[in-house]
Amino acid sequence: MNQPNIQPKITPIYQTSVFKFEDLDAVQRYFDEPGSRYLYSRNGNPNSDELAEAVSHWEGGAGAVATGSGMAAIFAALLTYCQAGDHVLCAADIYGGSAALLNLELSRLGISVSYVPFEDLYDLAAYVRPTTKLLLCETMSNPLLRVVDLRAAAAECHRHGIKLVVDNTFATPVLTRPLALGADMVLHSVTKYLAGHSDVTAGAVVAGTAEDAARLRQIGTVFGLTLSPMESWLSVRGLKTLRLRVAAHSHNAQQIAEFLEVHPAVEAVYYPGLPTHPQHALAVVQGHGLFSGMMSIRLADDAAVVNRFMQRSQRFPFAPSLAGVDSSCSHPLYTSHRALTDAQRAELGITVGLVRLSVGIEPVEELLADLAQALD
Ligand SMILES: *Cc1c(COP(=O)(O)O)cnc(C)c1O
Repeated sequence: MNQPNIQPKITPIYQTSVFKFEDLDAVQRYFDEPGSRYLYSRNGNPNSDELAEAVSHWEGGAGAVATGSGMAAIFAALLTYCQAGDHVLCAADIYGGSAALLNLELSRLGISVSYVPFEDLYDLAAYVRPTTKLLLCETMSNPLLRVVDLRAAAAECHRHGIKLVVDNTFATPVLTRPLALGADMVLHSVTKYLAGHSDVTAGAVVAGTAEDAARLRQIGTVFGLTLSPMESWLSVRGLKTLRLRVAAHSHNAQQIAEFLEVHPAVEAVYYPGLPTHPQHALAVVQGHGLFSGMMSIRLADDAAVVNRFMQRSQRFPFAPSLAGVDSSCSHPLYTSHRALTDAQRAELGITVGLVRLSVGIEPVEELLADLAQALD
């Protein structure tokens, strides 16, 4: 019987853990000609490869691996460059999970960490040791939206012979492509803007060189960090609207930031799109005029005030994640940044009054009206 000529426009979901071979010659060809076919989905699958290639293309990379989460992406990136006895530098303004991975787990494996305050990111001499391998930082930091000058940071890293690894989750490649500014590796929590609909947990790491990309794939396969077909497929679907969504998130967030900046119940707004933001000029250039949908606001340092805001808002449910098409809010002190030490939190100003908003793509008048009634 002839095979029907099926030509799906969209890559189907290859919901299979393994692939068939005709005989020993066929499996030998798989090993002799990498990329000629698939063996086992943990090693590679058409859906996870499609996602990895799409993210690599967005970031201008030489190759990527799709991972089971953003945390797996950070782990894979760090292991590409580090082994027991090595030392890493990490920006003090960092996702709480990254700090937990470094403080609680990688330290156990003999990889030590020093945190670099924001002001010192372009002068690392006092922090670099002979064993230092890399600096990990975020393009726009979580939760205070401090913007790192990646070109300057990359130049400083390379001056000391270390790599720059950038978590580009908040900025997305729509705003900033770290590899083009000199970074060596870029990673994402695909869970956030890249997938964009709060329905997938996924990650991706993109390498600047083919050699690093091959190491990444090996680490993904051997540590079992790779992403499933279904999650990959959902992420690819989300990625197709990334450019449109990020523009809409940014436009809404700009209006909301301007509204909140003059609201009497709000003590401070941290949003790079505001001219009062300390790195506004850098953010304009590095983000090509877009600033994402993420901001943090400082309410009174009183849990009762924060609770009232959360209870009253209908459009910003307290859901400790970010970057979905529907708005939400989160609370760094109680959720994402719990793992930081008291000293780290005090230094960064992560107090009970700090609320992080993830502005969605809903009609902005509805969001403004909701915030107005919730803050009154
Ligand atoms: C959420 C997040 C992560 C972790 O990603 P998961 O997909 O939750 O594992 C890493 N970095 C940043 C900046 C994040 O916001």
